[in-house]
Amino acid sequence: MNNNDGLGKSDGEPHTHDPSEKGAARRVQALEEVAIAKGLVDPQALDEIIEYYERETGPRNGASVVAKAWVEPDYKTWLLGNGTEAINHLGFSGFQGEHIKVVENTHEVHNVVVCTLCSCYPWPVLGLAPSWYKSSAYRSRVVREPRSVLSEFGLEVPDEVRVEVWDSTAEVRYLVLPQRPPGTNDLTEAELAGLVTRNGMIGTALV
Ligand code: FE
Repeated sequence: MNNNDGLGKSDGEPHTHDPSEKGAARRVQALEEVAIAKGLVDPQALDEIIEYYERETGPRNGASVVAKAWVEPDYKTWLLGNGTEAINHLGFSGFQGEHIKVVENTHEVHNVVVCTLCSCYPWPVLGLAPSWYKSSAYRSRVVREPRSVLSEFGLEVPDEVRVEVWDSTAEVRYLVLPQRPPGTNDLTEAELAGLVTRNGMIGTALV
């Protein structure tokens, strides 16, 4: 558990961005209900669209950041030193991405991201947060028993690797820089980006 980055208030107060986020979520939900009631939208299709944004569109931005860091050492240094600036440089910025810290997985440390109080998430690089990320089970358990939670995601972290859990706040959002997979020296940056998954950048999977 890392406590160095303005880690959240422990008084249970939601993060300051939350009212507008909840307001937006309420408006979207109201629109969904009206659209479904009027027969304009098939709920199944709507779920598929949301799923697409969770898995594909948003995370592709983060994947291109990761791939660039894998192939350009100077960019990686910049990214780890000033994530927000290096990410803005690729054109990804905006709401929920004002302060992004990038944490690097190595042979010594595996990083995983959570928001224990609500659902803070770096939208410009990861898109919409998946529902499990917002679940109270993930938010409470990943802090207490990160290895068990990661194991449930199919990720067994070896005992000699330290697990760091980063708690997002209104002030800072995190992006995990996964380790570049072995045997990928011949791949182009675009091909490398194609390997990077959303969960790899949250830290609940390897790439
Ligand atoms: Fe939050």
